[in-house]
Amino acid sequence: MKTHRQHFLLSAKARTLSLKTVFRMGEEAAYNLFCQMRWPETEGEAVCPRCGCVETYDITRRRFKCVACYHQFSVTSGTIFASRKLSYTDLLAAIVIFVNGAKGVAALQLSRDLDCQYKTAFVLTHKLREAMAKEQAGAKLDGIVEIDGAYFGGYVKPENEKADRKDLRLKANRSGKRQCVVIMRERNGRSLPFIVRHEGDAVPLVRDHVGTLATIYADEGTGWDDLHAGWDTYRVNHSERFMDKGVCTNQAESYFSRLRRMEVGTHHHIAGKYLNAYAGEAAWREDHRRTDNGNQAAMVGFAAMASKQSRQWAGYWQRAA
Ligand SMILES: [Zn+2]
Repeated sequence: MKTHRQHFLLSAKARTLSLKTVFRMGEEAAYNLFCQMRWPETEGEAVCPRCGCVETYDITRRRFKCVACYHQFSVTSGTIFASRKLSYTDLLAAIVIFVNGAKGVAALQLSRDLDCQYKTAFVLTHKLREAMAKEQAGAKLDGIVEIDGAYFGGYVKPENEKADRKDLRLKANRSGKRQCVVIMRERNGRSLPFIVRHEGDAVPLVRDHVGTLATIYADEGTGWDDLHAGWDTYRVNHSERFMDKGVCTNQAESYFSRLRRMEVGTHHHIAGKYLNAYAGEAAWREDHRRTDNGNQAAMVGFAAMASKQSRQWAGYWQRAA
């Protein structure tokens, strides 16, 4: 009899942190979790972010004052979550909801789930993407690396009347907003996305992120011809077959299918300037797809608490106003 092994995502091992648990633990326990993520080396005891002193006074409302330099701070001061609007329970719940969304989570949905303003949810989801990007940063790829590109954005709606419709294959009739996401994906390793104008523009980026001893698999796109000069490179011609003697870009394709599902199924439209953030989020989700949701939440939480205040997202709406 053939036995079917249960898919990881259906197993209990994949569900280690639920919203039920988060809301049951209450504000104090959630706060303590953030302290432990911020100061793991002291097991959650406050450390002055300015001078590193571990002696602090507790002043009101979960704020600390450094004994040495009198600096006042909270557990989120100077991190991505600085000047947070949500309670610690809601913030933790937001992380759980966000990592659980296999094709991303819309800010509008998060605002409904947490009963917070849309603006708050919008900025928060972007901060979580920033934490994911930080967790992914600095990865260097080796072994077998699949490289591929796909175009996103710049949709032009066809005119109602056929006679008025333009030939969208012509460059002059396009919006000029189309961008290319190039993914470099190590087999059983990390995935690094980059935003470029045309596929071939990514070759110099390959030099910075892929080891010279790596083997590269790419498709027939002429932009990749230059790769042969620097790496052991194999090509698969997709107009003939998708797998050629073991050479394929299927991992890169599955990355694009996730990013495409995020675009079409969740966000419906991705503004060009944020494409980079969503591309990074899709890479993180692909690379950690077999990590249970408790550990996924911890990875995002630790990365957020170890990060500097967000340059792009701190006080975003104040600046926009
Ligand atoms: Zn201090």
